[in-house]
Amino acid sequence: MKTREFNPARLDLTKLAQAGTAISGELDVSTRERLAQVQDSSSTPAERKVSWTARAELRSQRGGAKQTWLHLEVQTSLMMQCQRCLEPVDLAVDIAPWFRIVADEATAATLDAELEDVDVLAADGPLDLLTLIEDEILLSLPAVPMHEACPRVIPMTYVAVPPGSPAALPGVFDAATGTQTAPEDEPPEHPFAALATLKLVPRKN
Ligand SMILES: [Zn+2]
Repeated sequence: MKTREFNPARLDLTKLAQAGTAISGELDVSTRERLAQVQDSSSTPAERKVSWTARAELRSQRGGAKQTWLHLEVQTSLMMQCQRCLEPVDLAVDIAPWFRIVADEATAATLDAELEDVDVLAADGPLDLLTLIEDEILLSLPAVPMHEACPRVIPMTYVAVPPGSPAALPGVFDAATGTQTAPEDEPPEHPFAALATLKLVPRKN
């Protein structure tokens, strides 16, 4: 059984399971609207591809119809905007989810609540594997993409606060009212107490 006998956009999972083979392919990120959207627009990603492999299994269960399972392996990398330094960050995606296939959404919802470690997927008929791959990549992306270590330091600078001004006193300074809330306990004398008169502010360019 060859891969080209299966159409990933309308995949017959039972046939794939019966064939006992894996199918694989490559997907151009730019052809998937939602993947293209999450990418950092300032970077022009060269030929971003998603590599995927899929295979299905029919598992016997005691006293019932066979269960269909789908195993996906997906690798790619997406260029997103780092939320700390705003530079592009390359995020590697390498996931290998298993899905138990059921016939309808109601069954999927019930099983999903019962089986914590298993993803349940409703597919009554051919499955759009490419949309599922896109969904799984999007789910795996961090909510707040960031470099582990940003390539550049965000420009911040210290400015001197005049001694005696509310901002220089220990405690919480409310800039809106210009009032100072005293700390509950007298802070111990700190070796860097002099730094208290310095405040970190974004540099104005
Ligand atoms: Zn960064």
